[in-house]
Amino acid sequence: MTLFHTLGFPRVGQQRELKWALESFWAGNSTQQELLDVAHSQRLANWQRQLQAGADFITAGDFALYDHVLNTSYLFGHLPERARHGDDALNQLFLAARGRTPCGCTSHASEMTKWFDTNYHYLVPECRAEDEFRLQPELLLEEIRAARAVYPKVKAVVLGPLSYLYLGKSLDNSNRLNLLPKLLPLYSELFALLKAEGVDWLQLDEPILALDLPSDWAQAFEPAYHTLRNNGLNLLLTTYFNGLEDNLSLALNLPVQGVHLDLVSAPEQLTPALDRIGPYKVLSVGVIDGRNIWRSDLNAIRESLLEAKQQLGERLWLGTSCSLLHVPYDAASESQLPDGVGQWLAFAQQKLEEGVLLRDALNNSDVLSSATWQAQANAIQARRTSTAVHKAAVKQRAADAAAFDWQRDLPFSERAVLQQQLLKLPLFPTTTIGSFPQTSGIRQLRRRFKQGELTLAEYEDGLKAEIVHAIRVQEQIGLDVLVHGEAERNDMVEYFGEQLEGVAVSANGWVQSYGSRCVKPPIIYGDIERPQPMTVRWSEFAQSQTDKRMKGMLTGPVTILKWAFVRDDQPWSATAYQLAAVLRDEVQDLERAGIRIIQVDEPALREGLPLRKAAHQQYLQWAVNSFRFSVTGVAADTQIHTHMCYADFDDILPAIQGMDADVITLETARSASKLLATLQSSPYNNGIGPGVYDIHSPNIPAAEAMLAILRDSLAVVAPENLWVNPDCGLKTRRWEEVIPALEAMVAVALELREEVKVTEQA
Ligand code: GLN
Ligand code: ZN
Repeated sequence: MTLFHTLGFPRVGQQRELKWALESFWAGNSTQQELLDVAHSQRLANWQRQLQAGADFITAGDFALYDHVLNTSYLFGHLPERARHGDDALNQLFLAARGRTPCGCTSHASEMTKWFDTNYHYLVPECRAEDEFRLQPELLLEEIRAARAVYPKVKAVVLGPLSYLYLGKSLDNSNRLNLLPKLLPLYSELFALLKAEGVDWLQLDEPILALDLPSDWAQAFEPAYHTLRNNGLNLLLTTYFNGLEDNLSLALNLPVQGVHLDLVSAPEQLTPALDRIGPYKVLSVGVIDGRNIWRSDLNAIRESLLEAKQQLGERLWLGTSCSLLHVPYDAASESQLPDGVGQWLAFAQQKLEEGVLLRDALNNSDVLSSATWQAQANAIQARRTSTAVHKAAVKQRAADAAAFDWQRDLPFSERAVLQQQLLKLPLFPTTTIGSFPQTSGIRQLRRRFKQGELTLAEYEDGLKAEIVHAIRVQEQIGLDVLVHGEAERNDMVEYFGEQLEGVAVSANGWVQSYGSRCVKPPIIYGDIERPQPMTVRWSEFAQSQTDKRMKGMLTGPVTILKWAFVRDDQPWSATAYQLAAVLRDEVQDLERAGIRIIQVDEPALREGLPLRKAAHQQYLQWAVNSFRFSVTGVAADTQIHTHMCYADFDDILPAIQGMDADVITLETARSASKLLATLQSSPYNNGIGPGVYDIHSPNIPAAEAMLAILRDSLAVVAPENLWVNPDCGLKTRRWEEVIPALEAMVAVALELREEVKVTEQA
């Protein structure tokens, strides 16, 4: 019989129970036991869901209070030295993750980075040549025992040794691969312990096999896995997020009992896998999408698997493509969505049901005539033909846009002259990235409005007062280009999602971003239209309050796409051009309303890069062209800004230049020298504002540090192109921090203007 299993389950809780429990514990308002009680009831609920749905295994070891990579570091006694404080495991985990414990100890937090190309962030393991490992299995074993008390067939999950080391960073420039011989014996030891606990299968995640792996890493797999002694434990090597391509044979030849492939992202690997799998191994096929929220077309999936079923029989397993960590819990609670969209969604709960239904249909064709099977097929059909999804004119406009190479009418050098005539900005103009502190006042306004305590008019008056306050502060500080502060936006993507047709905002579609942080990605389900302008009246109002120039503020097409659940029935690029089309209309409406500086943020452009290099060029082509489609409908003297939040631009600088924004502001304060070195080797010719201070820190930035960044910038940027700004939005800061920081920044700009004047006179 074919089995069904999931690679992992969400853990924040359907109502974000774990989030609230963590935050309460960190704030000192609850005990460790109270936190653990909530955590344990969440993982218990996960197992019960899997069991009740009829999964063949329940998965354990996927739970984490903060992050599963951090748990792996703990498991192998490899937390940073500074976090190994006292012998309380939770204190150590939180000290590593957050740089502080409830008991008041502090150190610096570990670096966090994106888990592959998802919006989940993991804590980067820190490696040094002399590192030693030590097995600390008690947290994992406790979880496994708790799971086995629910159901004896438990599949444990652990991050594999090569992926663990690869995802780490070296603090001393040593090769992390050299740590492998020290780490492997602990895996063998762990296998023996798991076997002794009654675990039959261990899922060993090796997602790095889906990357362009450096050859020494790829070559390390075979000897490493031959060294592991599995002690009779069955190993399922899992890969996801991409096809294995050149690593496919490598993976299938490893001495493990099963291999899992992600057939959602790379269905084409099934045929070669069937050719190469051999006579003994289990092939687990990830066919239920673990990263997106659409119901599966089970008929189509079943048909695609018939040959595999025939060849492999019970050695064919079904799984989710990756862990369900990346989707919310239960779509049954989404009854408020427009256009019947709720019927088309599968969150984690529905994915379990789909997997089990598909399994049953593969094992027994009678299932094909069941009502559940039919209902699933009907939902797929309804979505495919819905008039809320398909709008011919919208599709046509996007297709036409994609076929055209969008450019401003004049080159930057000529636009810059015209813009200067209009805007009359000083040398080294000062500005900010868009958001100002989301104060408790603003949050309270929003809450009271949502709960019906405030009328719309009262709510908006409150927001206007916040905007006026932000403007007065900026005027007082002496900034040159002002922003309204984004008080009306809860989130830079959701705000637009709420206003666009074809995009739905769920009530409870929370997904963990990191630790206790969750996001609620909007759901792009249909062809996109803008019933009315989205930001114009706020920008207009703000402009009416000041004589300084007000910068309009939009979120770009690629960023909306990357931070949403995207429809899977057309290429991403088609959806990007649809978003760009409505943004283009918005940009033109802003211009018409007299807003002549307009920023279109694309912080997610860099993280949208596909995992494999071979796909980069194609992505950058549509990402950049759709951005240009959104901003090229304006007069030459309207100034287009963009903003990005990532400092590693080496590999995409030509694409960024290709966006041809008049000004780009960048997050650089933590690595300005790196950006400047990049600019040295490939110059950037339009306006640029390398962030002069790090907004993530509450500290007032030192004038010397800001001046140094600007002076260094002048070596690679023409003075008339250099802007002065912080490195990101100020939404997470307090006014008490923002005001002195911006005062210091403006003072630095004035000083630099003086310096340049003196040199010119001399
Ligand atoms: N305009 C946004 C802000 O200032 C940009 C945020 C971002 O780059 N992530 O908040
Ligand atoms: Zn940013």
